[in-house]
Amino acid sequence: MPIKPPPTTWHCPKCQWRKTVSPKSDALQAGVEWFDHCPQCGCRELESREATALERIAASLKL
Ligand SMILES: [Zn+2]
Repeated sequence: MPIKPPPTTWHCPKCQWRKTVSPKSDALQAGVEWFDHCPQCGCRELESREATALERIAASLKL
């Protein structure tokens, strides 16, 4: 059974870029639900953590 990943907030320590994504399945789309580098500055040291309740709400309102 596929495990649905939790909503994740990505954060770039260099340019402060931030994005919260809530994946719809465990097949994550690179550049949309999953990032190996910052889309703004190209930094490859992104931080990711489980989104807080507030971030989940903010992300869902943007859709
Ligand atoms: Zn950046």
